Amino acid sequence: MMRINPRRSAKISAAGLKRIVLTAPANVETPHPHKPLLTKKNSKAHVLVIAHSERGTLNDHARQTIAAAAILADAETKVLALILGELTEDLTSAGADEIIVLPELDFERFQPKLELASISAVIESVQPMHIFMPDNAIGDGDLGRRLIASQRTKTAATQVVEFDANHVANFQAGGTLLAQSALPEIILLAPNCVDAHLPFATSAERSDSTVTNQTSANQTETSNYQDLGLQTIAATEIALEEADFIVSAGNGVQNVATFESLAHALEASIGASRVAVDDGKFARDKQIGASGKTVSASAYLAIGISGAVQHLQGIKDCRHVIAINTDASAPMVKRADLTVIGDAEEIMQTLIALIAVAKLTKLKVAA
Ligand SMILES: Cc1cc2nc3c(=O)[nH]c(=O)nc-3n(C[C@H](O)[C@H](O)[C@H](O)COP(=O)(O)OP(=O)(O)OC[C@H]3O[C@@H](n4cnc5c(N)ncnc54)[C@H](O)[C@@H]3O)c2cc1C
Repeated sequence: MMRINPRRSAKISAAGLKRIVLTAPANVETPHPHKPLLTKKNSKAHVLVIAHSERGTLNDHARQTIAAAAILADAETKVLALILGELTEDLTSAGADEIIVLPELDFERFQPKLELASISAVIESVQPMHIFMPDNAIGDGDLGRRLIASQRTKTAATQVVEFDANHVANFQAGGTLLAQSALPEIILLAPNCVDAHLPFATSAERSDSTVTNQTSANQTETSNYQDLGLQTIAATEIALEEADFIVSAGNGVQNVATFESLAHALEASIGASRVAVDDGKFARDKQIGASGKTVSASAYLAIGISGAVQHLQGIKDCRHVIAINTDASAPMVKRADLTVIGDAEEIMQTLIALIAVAKLTKLKVAA
């Protein structure tokens, strides 16, 4: 079960109470302005990290996996990150010494044979001591298991929740037992078992691997399965637990029709606080929080939600929180990365109008 780290940064309130700051883990509140740069010119060994990117960036889980490899690597071991898909962000803070990017192998296309061929070529050329992958549902978990099956001589562990230089551990028997084994060669890492914020920076040099380029060019994905592609469905129909962008209404939202128009315009999934659900404005399956759903969206727009502790529990894994509220002292405002202080109805109407203009401009430019 995921828990909030009790050692996260805290502030002492006027009443003398300790209040955990939910926006950032303890060690990033006072970021090290000049992190030492680790350069490993004469490395003798490699730890390989393989992860898919999403829209040119790596998600938290992928970054945690690179950080895990960086923690394990000593001064003579390079962390090589093999990124499948486009990469447009800087990875110096992630922990990779060297990066190979294969943009044609993005997760939107199902091409495990091509991916395995490219990965095998890299493994062949650098002979990594260990291979780390995020154990997720967007392709890496599946690919990791295929890799384990193809590299039969290598030892492996999946859903790893704990590791050090000597051992790994994962849950067994439905989470009732913690099983340990010696550190294997292939490690599929569960989310949130490593803090991705490292106290050092790395060179993150991009190198074009001719080995992988040739492999990709020589291979075509021929198999007895057929890739039907990704199916696009309306964002408002996506299950809240899987949604990447959620617009959520609280007691401060009086006009549900305006709120739904905004969610539709933003192509976001709809969530709600318990009070809004209890009022009959939304169905029970839209409730987010301790007695509702736990969500992990990249962006969570909270409109007229106070941010009671039970609600905040449900959004603790959301990456960016934006609040619209009339009360600047609401707990949701403290949790949010960006806040707009003002009346919900007025701001929603303005946003809908701005989105309509932006969409029209985009259409005109495209034409
Ligand atoms: C056991 C238990 C379990 C619970 N589980 C959950 C749960 O799963 N999920 C959940 O959400 N709650 C849960 N609650 C309830 C929780 O404690 C809060 O009561 C609830 O989250 C408050 O909902 P709210 O923020 O929408 O409403 P309010 O607390 O009424 O807050 C409304 C907010 O809207 C703002 N506002 C008002 N008017 C406007 C306006 N015109 N424009 C902009 N902002 C405005 C106000 O400033 C305020 O911040 C639980 C409580 C208990 C005891």
